[in-house]
Amino acid sequence: MKGKTAIVTGASRGIGRAVAVALAKAGANVTINFAGNEKAAEETARICGQFGAQTLLVQGDVARAEDCAKVVEETLKTFGTVDVLVNNAGITRDNLLMRMNEEDFDQVIDTNLKGTYLMMKAVSRTMMKKRYGRIVNMASVVGIIGNGGQVNYAASKAGVIGMTKSFAREIAAKGITVNAVAPGFIATDMTAALSEEAAKAINQSIPQGRMGTPEDVAEAVLFLSSEQAGYITGQVLCVDGGMAM
Ligand code: NAP
Repeated sequence: MKGKTAIVTGASRGIGRAVAVALAKAGANVTINFAGNEKAAEETARICGQFGAQTLLVQGDVARAEDCAKVVEETLKTFGTVDVLVNNAGITRDNLLMRMNEEDFDQVIDTNLKGTYLMMKAVSRTMMKKRYGRIVNMASVVGIIGNGGQVNYAASKAGVIGMTKSFAREIAAKGITVNAVAPGFIATDMTAALSEEAAKAINQSIPQGRMGTPEDVAEAVLFLSSEQAGYITGQVLCVDGGMAM
């Protein structure tokens, strides 16, 4: 990844931080986007810096078009280009459908699905001009197999998968690949609220018998972000210990 520039959305914590660090370790300059947690984003930058990477912090809500444009503009101003976009920012607002209010439905769709569309749109002109780009979208196994209590989240992630394949087809001839990574259950803040009982039940449903780590996911993202993955596009790579096979 030497000489490459990557944008990672939601890179202040969890999987996004691990992705930013893996890209930095491999030699990329990294734009670290975050929503509100600046301290955590600075810690991501500090870790990336240990590998000699240049980093740029950009606060921005991916659900807002003007914020997405700002993330890309500031990256271009600082690094001159964008080679890799990792659409990682995501939220959950879980509830059973009968109890889920419209606001929780809309917020999850706006962040996870619309945010991915807005960021892809914001980088595509630059990538098309240079006829090179790697886009990796964070889906979820829940977008493939569904999950009770997560109709909003599952819809957003199934949408991300459909959008990934559609944009991959639109842009394949321009040297740009668009793939999705679908994690299973990964130990981050997002899953930290699970009760011990729920976590035990989840582990039993995973053939490998354990939750994944953010680093497990980051390695898959790193590969799909590399030049070497140039003939792979429109794919969904599950990183889930065998959950969704
Ligand atoms: P996490 O620990 O909750 O971190 C979420 C990250 O997204 C944070 O950096 C947060 O920024 C950022 N973010 C949230 N809303 C944002 C917005 N509107 N604009 C910009 N950034 C925003 O989550 P995670 O577990 O690492 O998940 C990362 C991705 O993997 C998500 O897309 C998630 O759906 C997906 N995923 C996770 C799992 C899992 O088991 N953990 C499984 C499958 C898929 P702040 O720190 O500033 O709030």
